[in-house]
Amino acid sequence: MTDNLQPVIVGAGPAGVRAAQTLVRHGLRPVVLDESVRWGGQIYRQPPAHFQRSKKVLYGFDASRAESVHDTMAGLLPHIDYQPDTLVWNAEGGKLDVLRHGQTATVNYTHLILATGATDRVLPVPGWTIPGVFTLGGAQVALKFQGCAIGRHVVLMGTGPLLYLIAYQYAKAGAHVAAVLDTATLMDQVAALPALVQQPAVLAKGLYYVGWLRAHGVRMQGGVQPLRVLGDSRVSGVEWRDAQGEHNLACDAVALGYGLRSETQLADILGCRFYFDELQRAWLPERDAAGRTTVAGLYLAGDGAGILGADAAESAGERAALTLLADTGRVPEAVDGDRVLALDATLERAQRFRAGLERAFPFPAGWAAQVQDEVVICRCEEVTAGELRRTAHATGAVEMNRLKALCRVGMGRCQGRMCGVAAAEVLAHCTGRSVEQVGRLRGQAPVKPIPFGVATVLAPEESA
Ligand SMILES: Cc1cc2nc3c(=O)[nH]c(=O)nc-3n(C[C@H](O)[C@H](O)[C@H](O)COP(=O)(O)OP(=O)(O)OC[C@H]3O[C@@H](n4cnc5c(N)ncnc54)[C@H](O)[C@@H]3O)c2cc1C
Repeated sequence: MTDNLQPVIVGAGPAGVRAAQTLVRHGLRPVVLDESVRWGGQIYRQPPAHFQRSKKVLYGFDASRAESVHDTMAGLLPHIDYQPDTLVWNAEGGKLDVLRHGQTATVNYTHLILATGATDRVLPVPGWTIPGVFTLGGAQVALKFQGCAIGRHVVLMGTGPLLYLIAYQYAKAGAHVAAVLDTATLMDQVAALPALVQQPAVLAKGLYYVGWLRAHGVRMQGGVQPLRVLGDSRVSGVEWRDAQGEHNLACDAVALGYGLRSETQLADILGCRFYFDELQRAWLPERDAAGRTTVAGLYLAGDGAGILGADAAESAGERAALTLLADTGRVPEAVDGDRVLALDATLERAQRFRAGLERAFPFPAGWAAQVQDEVVICRCEEVTAGELRRTAHATGAVEMNRLKALCRVGMGRCQGRMCGVAAAEVLAHCTGRSVEQVGRLRGQAPVKPIPFGVATVLAPEESA
């Protein structure tokens, strides 16, 4: 048994909430930190308290799961130290630097569960920086959190299941969805069916969204190559190419996204070893099936360790917490042995389903070859695809951090969280290497933007 345990969980989404519940059930009082003002994470994001929309309206088929996560967290409040509106922007062994309600503080931990979720994976097209272009997730946040649409005539473009879910949510809420433009083809989706039937309920939901959109006359096009977003001071339309030729369509807003990317920076600056995951085409922190990383006392759960979806995030949160309890001698493995086996089986099924989703909505591998020199890749530092290519050719840079040092790609406010994927694709293509070979941008503090001066004016240490 380890005395003076102080577990801290970063993230109050499905993974973080189930991790906290499990630790509390076994007598611990975790600290739960989340930069959002209310718990729920991305999928079960709650609107401001005075908004009056029902869970059914907000979460559709997922309303009962949302309710369960929300109610669980509400019930945990007397037993945990919940700190909302608290961004963890830096970490080193045993300490987290946080920004809470605009004030800096340090939170100490003996054991840490990172359940930091994901953000959109963005692949730029000409015009993507025109006002009126959002990420797919951003478009959903506008609807879920603020109850508003990103425009009157919205085009959703890219690939992934969120494309259809968000189109459905927008159309259901009364917005006009001008078109859903998917780079994946029907053949991709047919080929993925054997893997997707592993989770029939999720597959049925997806088919329902597509059927509903079709029945309501929403234009849906597969196998597209997005060409550009049109407009000057504001989006006025989109252009794309497909087997029939080039097309354009008027709209006043575009939601763009190609699946999700895990938020791995905290794991990175805490020293976790990373590996290249071919399936997700991403560098991810290594962890075992139980959620342990290569750093003692540090555990990962949910989409922050690889995209597996919300249901799997709940299982992974519980699993990581049970591992922490077992590692510290609080719960001998055998006590929760059956539960552990059940959780592992759920997570394995989710992994197989994930493989199906990647087959159904494949990464558009030709993107890097097609993206024009003038397209801005890193909007913080205004670095174009052409500048990346010229830098690589002129200097012989073949690795992402070298490229960053030479042309500032990924050096701005987002620290590469938005542009890192696209920049690595461009570098790999123009140097004839694989995305794995060009590596990844190393995580740096602050992992998310903080006000100027915060990093140098740290408050006196505060124990959690
Ligand atoms: C924008 C968006 C919308 C999505 N919508 C849907 C949907 O409608 N349906 C669906 O099935 N799936 C959706 N997904 C995927 C789904 O959200 C995830 O599968 C699921 O939420 C994963 O749960 P999680 O607990 O791992 O992470 P999340 O639910 O993402 O929770 C992570 C939490 O960590 C917090 N956090 C992250 N970094 C820090 C930090 N440095 N400091 C403090 N707090 C931090 C975040 O505020 C967040 O609350 C969406 C994903 C995104 C990115």
